[in-house]
Amino acid sequence: MDAECLIVGAGVFGLSIARALKTTGREVVVVDAVGVGAGASATPLGVLAPHAPDRWNEKKQSQFEALTSLSELVQALEDETGIDVGYRRCGRLIPLTRDTHVPLWRGRAQDAESNWQGVAGMSIISPDPTWLSAEAAPFGAVNCGLSARIDARNYCRALVASVGTVETGYRLSHLENNTAIFENGTRLSAKWIFLATGADAFRLLPDVEDDVPAGRGEKGQAAILRVGPDSGLDELPIIYRDRLYIVPRGEGLVAVGATSERDYLDAETTDTQLDTLIERAREICPRIAEAEIIEKWARLRPRAANKRLLVEKHPSLEGVIVATGGFKTGLAMAHIAAEQAVAKTAA
Ligand SMILES: Cc1cc2nc3c(=O)[nH]c(=O)nc-3n(C[C@H](O)[C@H](O)[C@H](O)COP(=O)(O)OP(=O)(O)OC[C@H]3O[C@@H](n4cnc5c(N)ncnc54)[C@H](O)[C@@H]3O)c2cc1C
Repeated sequence: MDAECLIVGAGVFGLSIARALKTTGREVVVVDAVGVGAGASATPLGVLAPHAPDRWNEKKQSQFEALTSLSELVQALEDETGIDVGYRRCGRLIPLTRDTHVPLWRGRAQDAESNWQGVAGMSIISPDPTWLSAEAAPFGAVNCGLSARIDARNYCRALVASVGTVETGYRLSHLENNTAIFENGTRLSAKWIFLATGADAFRLLPDVEDDVPAGRGEKGQAAILRVGPDSGLDELPIIYRDRLYIVPRGEGLVAVGATSERDYLDAETTDTQLDTLIERAREICPRIAEAEIIEKWARLRPRAANKRLLVEKHPSLEGVIVATGGFKTGLAMAHIAAEQAVAKTAA
C-alpha cells in the first residue's frame, strides 16, 4: 500500500475529509489534478444560507445543524492555523416586492423563533437604501439572521495548512479495487481511497437508473467587484433576490453571482449571462453601481441526481468511498460530508 488513506481532489470536500482523518491520527495523502481549490470550492460567493424556517423537516434540521456547527469548526481552524477564513454571521436581505409577501414572511419569522432555537432570528426591516435601493424593496426586506458568509479560498488554504501538503499533477483516470490510476501513469494503492473530485466524480459511478447518471456538473458563473478601500462593507448583509446574490467580502470587495446552467460549451469561461447578472446587481445595489469588475469566474457545481450529498462506499469497488454532491451548499456541508465519509471506514 502507498498510503492508508488517499484523497483524490483538493476541494473543500477532499480537504475536509483529510482534516477529519488526521484528527483521528490516520495517515493521509492528498492529490489533485491541478491544485488546491481548482474547482468549485474557489467560489467568490461563499454564501452560507439556511432553508426557509417554515415546514420544518429532516433536511432542514440537518442543514441547520451543519450551519451552526460550522461556526465552531472555523473558529478551531482559525485558532490552529492563524488564517482568517472570513466567516461572518452577516445576515441576508431578501427584498419584499409585493405586499402579499409581508404576512408570509412574518409567519416564517415566527417559525424561525422555534426552529432556529434562539441561535438567530428573522425580521422585516427597512434596509440601508445605499446598499439595497428603496425601489428594489418597496415593502422592506426580510433579514435572515442565520445567514453567514465565508471566504471559500481562505477556507481551503486553512484546511491545507491544517492537513499538510497536496500533491498536484495527479489527474485520476480510473479506479480499481484499492487503487487509483492517474493519467501520468502513476498507480497509487491505499486501504481507503476517497473520491472527492467534485463534478468529475460522477463519471466513475454507475447510473442510478437507465440513462440517469449519478449526477452532473451544473455550471455557475460569478464575479468580484472592487468598491473601494474605505467602503465599510464588512458589516453589511448579503442581498438575495431571484437567484442573484450580492455578497460583501472584506477589503472593499463585493461578489456577484451566480448563473445555473445545465448546458454549456466550456465549464470555465464566462459570458454575457454573467454580464446580465452584474447589471441586475448594479440596479438594486447603489454601492456597486460604478464598481470595477476585477474577476470573472466559472466552474461546475457537483449536483447528484437527487440533489443531496452523495457520500457512500463505491457500489462495485473495494476500498473506495465517494464524497461529492455539494451542489449549491457545498461550503456549508463539507464538514458533515467529511464526518460521514470517515464513518464509512468503520462501517
Ligand atoms: C458559481 C458557483 C457559486 C457557488 N457558490 C456557493 C456558495 O455561495 N455557497 C456554497 O456553499 N456553495 C457554493 N457553490 C458550490 C460549492 O462551491 C461546491 O458545492 C463545493 O465547492 C464542491 O466541493 P468539492 O470539493 O466537492 O468539489 P471541487 O471544489 O470542484 O473540488 C474538486 C477537486 O478535484 C479536482 N479534480 C477534478 N477532477 C479530477 C481528476 N480527474 N483527478 C484529480 N483531481 C481532480 C479539481 O482540481 C478540484 O480541486 C458554488 C459553486 C459555483 C460553481
